[in-house]
Amino acid sequence: MNRPPVGPHAGGAKRTAPQRRRRPPDAAKAWARSLARRRPGLVPFVLDTLAAFHGLPTWERRLDPTSELVLTILTQNSADINAEKAYERLREAYPTSGPAVSTELGGGWGGTGLNPGVTPDWPAVEAAPLPELIDVIRPGGLAPQKAPRIQAALRRIREERGDYSLEFLGEMAPLEARAWLTAIDGIGPKTASIVLLFGFGMPLMPVDRHVERVSKRIGLIPPKATADQAHDLYLALLGPADGTHAATEAYAAHVLLIRHGRLVCHARNPECDRCPVATRCRFVDRRAP
Ligand code: SF4
Repeated sequence: MNRPPVGPHAGGAKRTAPQRRRRPPDAAKAWARSLARRRPGLVPFVLDTLAAFHGLPTWERRLDPTSELVLTILTQNSADINAEKAYERLREAYPTSGPAVSTELGGGWGGTGLNPGVTPDWPAVEAAPLPELIDVIRPGGLAPQKAPRIQAALRRIREERGDYSLEFLGEMAPLEARAWLTAIDGIGPKTASIVLLFGFGMPLMPVDRHVERVSKRIGLIPPKATADQAHDLYLALLGPADGTHAATEAYAAHVLLIRHGRLVCHARNPECDRCPVATRCRFVDRRAP
């Protein structure tokens, strides 16, 4: 399937940013091979140990993928609890008819959970006057950036697909689906991976600040890796994203590393003395196996 002509460089627009050296396409695989050679069994050790410590999370769809996308945009650079408030206000301001449903956000979510509610009316959200929409989602933070981003994403989906459903992504290969989403302005690999992992159980690993911090301290990813590089590093560490890899492993890894970052491996004062992976953590011992 051809990638849709969307994004900042659609229509032949010239790239003006300075060209950076591209990493070799197999850099992530090379890192995974090197890690397996230097520190054998580290990835399964960390995931199994964290599963025993925090409990093994199991995947279950929590929202339809369009709602997941909008909720995830609301979480960008905001606390989950504030994104929740903004999403609930969106539902109240632009409701669809039908019964209110409860939504269990689970899986590493940092808020208190959504109150029962209906799916937002996406045509009304897209058509809303921008100042009004900004005011509606203001409790989520960064509303002046996120309101136009939400409307642009909805407009792009409607223009490309004729409606607001993203269910078609479930028919695509994971990396193809990720490319479709990241071609939309304001949708990066983390947001796209969340939509595809939580919406479809695709084997893609969203790397947020907790995942990145814990992973770098243990040494699962290089200390200087960017967040965007970390997404591809995890594809190599957890297996190929070609449908043959167990989706549950990416989901479990994502949720377990977030939980560990929130509960034990805090940004300040990590509780290494009660951490079950301390024996193999390079933050504790730079020569840890
Ligand atoms: S040993 Fe300390 S730094 Fe390493 S993962 Fe555990 S809490 Fe984090």
